[in-house]
Amino acid sequence: MNDFHFHTPDTLEEAAALLAQYDGNAKLIAGGTALTTLLKQSLVQPEHLVSLHRVKGHDAIEHSGGALHIGALATQRSVERSETVKQHAPLLAEAYRRVATVRVRNVATVGGGIAHADPAMDPPPSLLILGASVKLLSSKGERTVALADLYTDYYETTMEPDEIVTELEVPDQPAGSSWTYIKYLPRTADDYATVSVAAIGVLDGGKVADVRVGLGALGPTAIRATALEDAVRGTTPTHDSLHEASQSVLEIVDPIDDPRGSAGYKRDMSAVFARRAMEQVLGVATG
Ligand SMILES: Cc1cc2nc3c(=O)[nH]c(=O)nc-3n(C[C@H](O)[C@H](O)[C@H](O)COP(=O)(O)OP(=O)(O)OC[C@H]3O[C@@H](n4cnc5c(N)ncnc54)[C@H](O)[C@@H]3O)c2cc1C
Repeated sequence: MNDFHFHTPDTLEEAAALLAQYDGNAKLIAGGTALTTLLKQSLVQPEHLVSLHRVKGHDAIEHSGGALHIGALATQRSVERSETVKQHAPLLAEAYRRVATVRVRNVATVGGGIAHADPAMDPPPSLLILGASVKLLSSKGERTVALADLYTDYYETTMEPDEIVTELEVPDQPAGSSWTYIKYLPRTADDYATVSVAAIGVLDGGKVADVRVGLGALGPTAIRATALEDAVRGTTPTHDSLHEASQSVLEIVDPIDDPRGSAGYKRDMSAVFARRAMEQVLGVATG
């Protein structure tokens, strides 16, 4: 680990000013659960660390205007446990519940998790299909980016080095929707996913009125399975029709070999878990 200067601003505006001042040579640290590992392995070597631990506020979880507004300094555990989140977007509460362990979730923040941009993280597939967006602050001002436009590659985002995630905005889950988050992990319960699928479904008169499917750990970023959604929307779903439609995800996944599974295995499992997720949210018995 390299030596660094440690800064403890009292406000996000002061933090943004420090990031601008050190122009690419500073990293934010919030919970520190991901960054500490990167520092220890010298995968990042900033000259300055800008800590958010003295910043007050920005951790509220509120609901207004048909959306959840979650402060970037809220812990992931607080999202998992929030009755407001459970009421308006139960899929999201479940996605955060599946992150690592209680010890990690008690410290890890929502903003740190968004910025870390590991494609095997649990929240992004759900955030993607819920249409979430993030608010960013820098010394130049504020902007809002849709989660669908945030992630570009492994650990890469469209955020500038001097931008701070201040809030996550998540529209309500559709009324009357069924939902599921399948996290397949054959090693330990606190591991990252080998394959994950988040799905939402709404039936109307036996036909699919709305279906959304997000995939995790299956490429450089979380992926929305839009071709699959288009093939299923408006149909009367059966095991066979969902099996056939789910094959389309094989065209959009691009997993890598890693200790959690081979690329070929993950690719095969992507269609299996996409089908199972749709069967669950569309009330179709598994064949
Ligand atoms: C043992 C272990 C197991 C894990 N397992 C899982 C898992 O199963 N599923 C899963 O989803 N995740 C998992 N994680 C990852 C975990 O979710 C992240 O470590 C956590 O979300 C990072 O949050 P943090 O507040 O600790 O961020 P930090 O470690 O403080 O920062 C992470 C990155 O975000 C940047 N950053 C922090 N806050 C902000 C902000 N407000 N704005 C802009 N940039 C910011 C930092 O500069 C850094 O680049 C695991 C982590 C550990 C240590």
